Amino acid sequence: MMVKTGILEKLLGSIVEEKIEVVDMSQILNESTPVIQLPEPITNTGGFKLKQLSKYNETGPTFYWNDFVAGEHCGTHFDAPVHWISGKGLDSVDTIPTKNMIGEANVIDIREKVQENPDYCLTVEDIQSFEKQYGKLKKHSWVLVHTGWAKYVDDLEKFYNIGEDGLSHTPGVTKEATLFLVEQRDILGIGVETVGTDAGIADSFDPPLPVHYYMLGANKYGLAQLTNIDKLPAKGSVLIVNPLKIENGSGSPLRVIALVEKE
Ligand code: MN
Repeated sequence: MMVKTGILEKLLGSIVEEKIEVVDMSQILNESTPVIQLPEPITNTGGFKLKQLSKYNETGPTFYWNDFVAGEHCGTHFDAPVHWISGKGLDSVDTIPTKNMIGEANVIDIREKVQENPDYCLTVEDIQSFEKQYGKLKKHSWVLVHTGWAKYVDDLEKFYNIGEDGLSHTPGVTKEATLFLVEQRDILGIGVETVGTDAGIADSFDPPLPVHYYMLGANKYGLAQLTNIDKLPAKGSVLIVNPLKIENGSGSPLRVIALVEKE
């Protein structure tokens, strides 16, 4: 089959010539990689572990390889609709349409508000002021909530930010903003820098964990623990999000990359 339009050739040329930057938005996976900590009787995910099988030694003289153990919701990871009770029967990581693995990124910056209040949640007003400046959010796009939280990933005390009340004080998204993005804008999903897409105190919200409840319940997605959001423009970058094809998987660690056009 002949190449018709040359779009892909132009894209590849731009990447090779570095007119398009490929930004790595995933955190490193190792035994220190943060995972969500939930109270009993919840079974927590064990995080990431690497077990060396050989490294050019007697168990494998000419090669190096490892086994790894990892929670589906470990480090930079994808939440599939089936993860939440509201998404029961909807897509798991192996059944999400491949088309949905590529979409525009919209970066909504709430760093100042989060600096003042770590429990701050993105509001409908924040979305509307973003749209006033950059235009209406398009269908089939991601909303990335820029809180600045990724800078704490090497300091777990700050990353989890457990208060005297025993709760994790980390930012999120309001129920109203989540519903607005689902119902009024039909986005692909919400991406965040924190350990999960909901605020640390969102267990007390009605319903609890509204991002999980409404996004996943609408067959949309979540992305947690992103980094390098500050390398993306407010609009117009392309996010490539491809979770592992785990049969019936509820989520997956993944390497998220963004294509960013240089000025
Ligand atoms: Mn998750």
